Amino acid sequence: MSSIARLLASVPTRLWIDGADTDPVDGGHFSVVNPATGAVVAEVADARGKDALLALDAACRVQDEWAATAPRERSRILRRAWELVVERTEDLALLMTVEMGKTLAESRGEVAYGAEFLRWFSEEAVRIGGRYTEAPSGNGRILVTKAPVGPCLAITPWNFPLAMGTRKIGPALAAGCTMIVKPAEDTPLTMLLLAEILAEAGLPAGVLSVLPTSDAASVTEPLLADPRLRKVTFTGSTRVGKLLIEQSAQQVLRTSMELGGNAPFIVFDDADVDGAVTGAMAAKMRNGGEACTAANRILVHNAVREEFTAKLTERIAALRVGPGYEDGTELGPLINDRQRGAVAALVADAVDAGARVRTGGHVVDGPGYFFEPTVLDEVPAGARIVREEIFGPVAAITGFDTEAEAIAAANDTEYGLAAYFYTRDLDRAMRVAAALESGMVGVNRGVISDPAAPFGGVKQSGLGSEGGTEGIDEYLSTKYIALPA
Ligand code: NAD
Repeated sequence: MSSIARLLASVPTRLWIDGADTDPVDGGHFSVVNPATGAVVAEVADARGKDALLALDAACRVQDEWAATAPRERSRILRRAWELVVERTEDLALLMTVEMGKTLAESRGEVAYGAEFLRWFSEEAVRIGGRYTEAPSGNGRILVTKAPVGPCLAITPWNFPLAMGTRKIGPALAAGCTMIVKPAEDTPLTMLLLAEILAEAGLPAGVLSVLPTSDAASVTEPLLADPRLRKVTFTGSTRVGKLLIEQSAQQVLRTSMELGGNAPFIVFDDADVDGAVTGAMAAKMRNGGEACTAANRILVHNAVREEFTAKLTERIAALRVGPGYEDGTELGPLINDRQRGAVAALVADAVDAGARVRTGGHVVDGPGYFFEPTVLDEVPAGARIVREEIFGPVAAITGFDTEAEAIAAANDTEYGLAAYFYTRDLDRAMRVAAALESGMVGVNRGVISDPAAPFGGVKQSGLGSEGGTEGIDEYLSTKYIALPA
């Protein structure tokens, strides 16, 4: 038996409700596919509304007890979960590679990154503060306390099957909230295994439930309509985020929204061009380009554009494409045929509009959902690829002549999640960082995600921050207690 078959035979595939593997009330299941081959690798239980309400019943039953659990104890459980996730790195990494497609090296990186949210928030659990002050008028005292918001729903995407879960689960549990996770349909297995690990770490039954489903709305809508749910936290497309904000209005839910991006990556004429090429490789090709922080528009000063483009093209053309679990693979498949079709359509549109293909540009024939690593140069402003999230291994390069022109182009989008730029000029670095309409800015670096930093966007990229000391506030409500002087 191969290591993949052995792992798949041992991972949970049923719903995780109230601390137990559970069959769906209606008994359905759906297939999980290996995007490197197109073959079905698992049949997973398919939740519906009735299962969702059972999970919410369990969450509500234990909410008060979990909130009253000593912060040190919540912290201890999260810390233990971090240890166990790290111990299970190889299993979790292989599972992610099989259901999502990224290379094993990237999956291992995600396990370390995703686990770190459990450790970081284990440390934040014991530092939830309030404040006390005297009223300026002298006629009263002000006490401010923090309390968990209550039962939460987390809806996670397929591109980071572990980390997008732990980034929500870590702070929610640390704050004393219960949580129901609806993982993405393409990648439910990683989250089911994580639930098992959290239980092994000592998480009481009911505090966390995981509901895979092939019909997201059938699970989320009954929860969002239920007055017992107090918050929804979502990572995914802006389209679905808007829908969830609308649906959340009914019960006036707290919302955290990590939505789409259209990150500019600017290379100024005073940049270290080799450093910028290395940064662009990370910002563009990390996770096969399937990241909301991925460099979507590479804007390069015309004085260095040819040098930068030639060097980036050489690196990208040399990437070894193949199944993520094969030795030497540097770029895996896209998540599914729909996503690959969307990437191919964006490339075709850009080429029609006048972009030049420097390498790649095509779907790879054969099994699996592979797309050639691609560089497009001279991408015109009117091309769809400039406005829409690519979510694939395609670098789209456009030239500019002045700093003002670069900033205007960078900000000319409804998104505002991540932005990157390269310069050696400190004054310019401060000026441009301030001028970019973006929740996160990378200066002379192509990777910005860090569990200790607040991840989040402005404009249509979302609401709220995940990670950092800010991350736990999303799961706390503020109470003001007025006291006599
Ligand atoms: P999506 O927004 O459709 O899916 C994200 C999550 O939302 C999944 O769990 C999905 O099941 C759930 N969902 C979908 N429809 C829903 C509904 N009506 N009600 C409740 N939940 C629902 O994203 P996708 O289709 O997987 O990817 C499409 C595009 O979204 C990508 O090309 C990319 O641009 C963007 N995306 C962004 C991120 C990010 O990290 N910001 C992650 C994934 C995808």
